[in-house]
Amino acid sequence: MTTTERAYLDWNATAPLRPQARAAMVEALDAVGNPSSVHAEGREARGIVEAAREHVAALVGSEPRHVVLTASGTEANTLALSPQTGGRWQRLLVSAIEHPSVRSGGRFPTVEEVAVTAAGVVDLDDLAKRLAEGPPALVSIMLANNETGVLQPIREAAHLVHEASGLLHVDAVQAVGRIPCDINALEADLLTLSGHKIGGPKGAGALVKRAPLDLHPLVTGGGQERGERAGTENVAAIAGFGAAANAAEANLATERAHMRGLRDQLEAGLRATPGLIVFGAEAERLPNTTLFALDGLKAETAIIRFDLDGVAVSSGAACSSGKVQPSHVLKAMGVSPALARSAVRVSLGPTSTEDDIERFRTAWITVSGTLLEKSRGMAA
Ligand code: PLP
Repeated sequence: MTTTERAYLDWNATAPLRPQARAAMVEALDAVGNPSSVHAEGREARGIVEAAREHVAALVGSEPRHVVLTASGTEANTLALSPQTGGRWQRLLVSAIEHPSVRSGGRFPTVEEVAVTAAGVVDLDDLAKRLAEGPPALVSIMLANNETGVLQPIREAAHLVHEASGLLHVDAVQAVGRIPCDINALEADLLTLSGHKIGGPKGAGALVKRAPLDLHPLVTGGGQERGERAGTENVAAIAGFGAAANAAEANLATERAHMRGLRDQLEAGLRATPGLIVFGAEAERLPNTTLFALDGLKAETAIIRFDLDGVAVSSGAACSSGKVQPSHVLKAMGVSPALARSAVRVSLGPTSTEDDIERFRTAWITVSGTLLEKSRGMAA
């Protein structure tokens, strides 16, 4: 079976490379200079990096001088989660549904978790209570959850955090390119982006600041990235990230409407299955994500069945699939471990098609039918 015969519905794990990103990368591979060199070759490479930085900044309404290019979203999160220079924020609060790269706490020795509601939305009362309990905190809340797609009340959280003299970091990895994401409108102080979720290459990311802020570098050495991230830049990956950011920004409205149309169609089909639950459906969500569960379904088995039928979906966060533990996101939402173990995530992208949805629908009939037969057999 070739890839065109398959339905790739795991865009929250990673997105296919956009043609614009591929073209920019191929061209950049031939730039021989080191971006730090002053000669013509160096200046050419520098030009590629700076053009990409402009596109990344524009995607989130920031300025190029406020963009620190990193090798991943994970690195950007870790760079953000540090007692920053000046040492004003000595505590770390993160929502209970963050990506593992945030939940691990970066360079803070301890992490306090902020609760979420049953719909998967950060509990602002719990945030306010925790902020009042101690000295000014660095707070990290994602804009959109990678498993449920549920959007978080970032502006409201920003007001609470700033009233308490705190700093707000927002992991926007899953949101950017799918919904409008302007760092000033969000009132976030730091924003994390990842290239491969928007059709750029894997291994490129950025930490974006809203205003000047001295970061505590993770990697020291040369003066690259204004001394905040040493090391010769990965020019080709950065070029691809920049081109993907540019394309994502230019096409946001149409891509968003396209994804929402297909996702709603997919969900309407799924809801015909008695007992099926779509998580976070009562909250505002990304236009491309559906996380659903059916009592008695084993997600690990269902995913293999889907794969055999030519459909790529996931059982939650890609990095945690393969582990048997139920998702920490669903646990935080109060979902029972048994139901959480049956959760399947479908995530679409700008080039997803009606055929993909049809292939998924057909595969789901097999997957759910097998399951129902089995449970009937057990009851008999
Ligand atoms: N944050 C979120 C919400 C993610 O979904 C991911 C990747 O799955 C990351 C951060 C990490 O990004 P990267 O894969 O670039 O390290």
